[in-house]
Amino acid sequence: MSQATINRNVEAELERSSAASGQVSVCGVSKSYGTHEVLHDIDLEIEPGEVVALLGPSGSGKSTLLRTINHLESVDGGSILIDGEYIGYVRKGDRLFELREAETLRRRTRVGMVFQNFNLFPHLTALQNITAAPVALQRASKTDADAQARALLKRVGLEGKEQHYPRQLSGGQQQRVAIARALALKPDVLLFDEPTSALDPELVGEVLDVIRELAHGGTTLVIVTHEIGFAREVADRIVFLDAGRIIEQGTPEQVLTNPRHPRTQDFIRKVL
Ligand code: ADP
Ligand code: MG
Repeated sequence: MSQATINRNVEAELERSSAASGQVSVCGVSKSYGTHEVLHDIDLEIEPGEVVALLGPSGSGKSTLLRTINHLESVDGGSILIDGEYIGYVRKGDRLFELREAETLRRRTRVGMVFQNFNLFPHLTALQNITAAPVALQRASKTDADAQARALLKRVGLEGKEQHYPRQLSGGQQQRVAIARALALKPDVLLFDEPTSALDPELVGEVLDVIRELAHGGTTLVIVTHEIGFAREVADRIVFLDAGRIIEQGTPEQVLTNPRHPRTQDFIRKVL
């Protein structure tokens, strides 16, 4: 197969995956660390392709909620389903059984996550950072994974940076590699935890541009951000978390322009 054919196949594949499902059901989720309840009875239904901006003060539980959706944290009560399936469990009758690690890993790849501090492997090139998981999980041959990684780097505007190591890239470029890495597993849902908070102000825009593209592409996105203008622009829905509870949600217009809850009003006054 020629490189051009491979690239076309990869692009068609990316297209298909972004048109796929990605429904998130968070039902009555509670989570405590010791005696500190961090999430309290959270209900959140996210439709396939929906873009949700998750806002709230520091310590309100935003990261914890994302981590439970990705099954990086277990919940103490309630359940989280992706397209009707548990990530780490299987239901038999009215009981839940823990899945084997391999199956949990497979299911977790439906939910990608992008972190504030990029979390790239420092000893791997941009290309290797992106191909590592698809190859390790035996989703792709080395050749296909390379072709896909090149296409993804191009998509995030980093053509020509394939052989660069993270330390040779700016923060904005590193975060774009991290986004490409998340996309390589063709997730149905992508979670962003303050993806621009660690960046110098002049590098924020290039990362938001990539996320904006994704927002239009049909993948379900949950974005924790303090970029209120961006949230207003791309989000279908704003969910406001305070002390582990969803205290307000609605369209950006409703929540950002006419917040009803005093805590939301207070937060928006401070960040605008
Ligand atoms: P946010 O992302 O909204 O700032 P987090 O979800 O990170 O909030 O944290 C919510 C609360 O849970 C905070 O009080 C934080 O200190 C606490 N917390 C988070 N992770 C842990 C942990 N692994 N162990 C103990 N407490 C934690
Ligand atoms: Mg956080």
